[in-house]
Amino acid sequence: MKQVKIMGVPLSHIDHKTLVKQLDEHVMLEEKSFVITVNPEIVMRANEDTAYMNHLHKANYITADGIGIIRASQLLKDPLPERVTGYDLMIDLLSISNIKGYKIFLLGAHKDVLKRVETNLQHFYPDIQIVGSHDGYFNWDQSDEIVEQVKQADPDLTFVALGAPKQEQWISENIDQFNKGVFLCVGGSFDVIAGDVKRAPATWRKYNVEWLYRLLKQPKRWRRMLALPRFAIRIIKRKLKGSP
Ligand code: UDP
Repeated sequence: MKQVKIMGVPLSHIDHKTLVKQLDEHVMLEEKSFVITVNPEIVMRANEDTAYMNHLHKANYITADGIGIIRASQLLKDPLPERVTGYDLMIDLLSISNIKGYKIFLLGAHKDVLKRVETNLQHFYPDIQIVGSHDGYFNWDQSDEIVEQVKQADPDLTFVALGAPKQEQWISENIDQFNKGVFLCVGGSFDVIAGDVKRAPATWRKYNVEWLYRLLKQPKRWRRMLALPRFAIRIIKRKLKGSP
């Protein structure tokens, strides 16, 4: 598959529909797959932390969660087809799972949030099998127990909602212990499914200002947003120098 490199991060040149189809195929063929969706904040972090960059490089697919990444790819004259967000991938994979009865494991968020995610998923997707779950507030040395729990549950799809950088690190460090399954990083999606956080309405998404909606709803995110102008400056400098 063609890759588009943005500040050393190899993004997959793939659209949402094709990726959903490929992930479904991986499930059917019992192949392992690791999917990350990145925004400028993640790309900046990877450029400041080599270990984190190495975790990203272990993924089979890296897509653009944020519009900033799409704009950067256009500016660098190697445009990505579209945004492919963790939330949208999760929703479409759940619909397929509901038809095919796939087994799901949920890892992440606070215990009460996770409980409501399970209730809501069972309500809206009655034919999926939730074969296990674990909240996202554990000590890193408990990871082996969680890996064991996932292995026993033998899921087709594992949604990991630990936020960046934990979710990418957790999957990268543990994926070698699994024989099959799609492992998808979904960030704050569990909070949305639980009904605690509202996703930006369609119009905001259409005009690519979902980030602004999230900032207005969760003003404490402002510090994280500072990565955005730093990212823009780095991309413009690279464009001028002619390196990806
Ligand atoms: N989270 C977690 N364990 C942690 C830190 C965060 O499970 O140690 C969860 C948190 O409860 C939330 C999600 O990870 O559900 C992160 O959400 P955020 O909005 O920060 O993620 P983004 O979508 O911006 O990557």
